[in-house]
Amino acid sequence: MTHYTLRSPVLAKGPERSFWLQDAGASPITPPLSGDQTADVAIVGGGYTGLWTALRLKEQQPDLRVTILEADCCGAGASGRNGGQVHSWFAEIDLLTEVVGETEALSLCCATADAIDELESLQASGTIDMDLRLDGWLWTASSRAQEGAWQKALVMTQALGEDRFVLLDADEIARRTGSRASYMGIAERKAGTVQPAKLAIGLRQLALSRGVIIHERTPVTAIEPGTTVTLRTPEGSLKAGRVVLAANAWLASIPELLRCMYVVESQIVATEPVPDLLDEIGWTGGESICDAQAHVLYYQRTPKGRVVFGRGSGKIAYGDRIGASFNRGTEQASDNRRELGRVYPELKTARIEHDWSGPIDCTADHLPIFDHLAGQPNIFFGIGFNGTGIAQTPVAGHILASLVLGRDDRWSRSALVGISRRKTLPPEPVRYLGAKLVRKAIRLRNDAEIENRRVNPVVRFISELKPGR
Ligand SMILES: Cc1cc2nc3c(=O)[nH]c(=O)nc-3n(C[C@H](O)[C@H](O)[C@H](O)COP(=O)(O)OP(=O)(O)OC[C@H]3O[C@@H](n4cnc5c(N)ncnc54)[C@H](O)[C@@H]3O)c2cc1C
Repeated sequence: MTHYTLRSPVLAKGPERSFWLQDAGASPITPPLSGDQTADVAIVGGGYTGLWTALRLKEQQPDLRVTILEADCCGAGASGRNGGQVHSWFAEIDLLTEVVGETEALSLCCATADAIDELESLQASGTIDMDLRLDGWLWTASSRAQEGAWQKALVMTQALGEDRFVLLDADEIARRTGSRASYMGIAERKAGTVQPAKLAIGLRQLALSRGVIIHERTPVTAIEPGTTVTLRTPEGSLKAGRVVLAANAWLASIPELLRCMYVVESQIVATEPVPDLLDEIGWTGGESICDAQAHVLYYQRTPKGRVVFGRGSGKIAYGDRIGASFNRGTEQASDNRRELGRVYPELKTARIEHDWSGPIDCTADHLPIFDHLAGQPNIFFGIGFNGTGIAQTPVAGHILASLVLGRDDRWSRSALVGISRRKTLPPEPVRYLGAKLVRKAIRLRNDAEIENRRVNPVVRFISELKPGR
């Protein structure tokens, strides 16, 4: 019988934790699993995916015994470290259409728009205080190569009769962001920013209040399949009839999943609070902003006037080796400092008080995959959010809950379900070496394009070998 071994995450400590987790404050940790326990459904991973899945299961079957096992604390992974940019899938409708067809793509995009409404009502009802500000999501160009990156998605969205985007000119961008670095773009109207760790912690509280059992500081080290699955942890075991693997990038430990995914690092910095300076340059709102370079820049102004500024670093993990540098990069955030200074010269002297990193679970076609493990009809997984998860994981929760409950509905029939239909990647070490080369080329191309310099044709050719778009 196949057994699966999971590599435990390297835990981030103290200052390596994201600004968001530190800002949200410590909430009491639930006790680790000890002894031999049972559940109807066991979920591995207490990020948005695991928490939303638990909540969806409880919505449909309140008496179901659902237990989450989390290696660190809920939100310690990407969910408590991300850029806090909230936007629907309409920006990727072209990509979705290629993989799942037009009808399903529209349905998934609308589901993420509904998820944004759901976040809004969770905040409005006082259920989760997550600093959600739906002031818009700006997708902009700051160099010639970036111009019109949004065109396909914009045209397709409009053709489907959805009125989500508005065109932006240089003055409008400057008015809303306080910067003239970007000069054209689009904005998704009902989108914006969130304090991501507060969202994760709020979902955790909600899950606990609905009777979900959560054991934190409980890494699952091995999975023994069967009609009843046994999850091994350092101090005990959990037996469950059905299991959901929601451990994001760390699921690269499972060979059949690694075939379809690779893990890259994204780095973020947070400045000291500079509210007066930001007010002065006219950046007062809660918009989320990103540009259209391959190593995308994403940034927001927090309600207290810090700038949170992130960028895909290009660093890739070898297989499932997600080391300490995926908690905090080794380059003292030099890339982000440079880019922050380019977009906001006024902030060149602002102190960077926090810098951290997180692993991003990427798939070859840039979209998530849901299914059960081969030959294990009761062990489900969801991987591959590709750095866009806040409005997408509530949808993942629906899909995974329907799979677990054996429902035949729009969620279980989603064309994102089914790993065999999806692209695979070369094995290690070819993948790592190839990816390193391609990502180096992307970086060189990016750096040239930001300055409107000519790109060396060999660099351009190699950069275009990347999977996805
Ligand atoms: C730096 C960064 C910036 C991002 N920016 C944005 C953004 O601005 N907007 C957006 O929409 N999305 C963004 N994302 C993506 C988004 O954060 C993710 O898609 C989302 O958080 C995925 O949720 P998850 O629950 O699948 O993963 P995670 O939050 O990573 O949860 C997985 C959990 O599994 C736990 N775990 C791992 N192994 C084990 C084990 N063996 N046993 C038990 N538990 C285990 C981990 O500790 C972790 O808590 C970003 C991601 C990163 C890393």
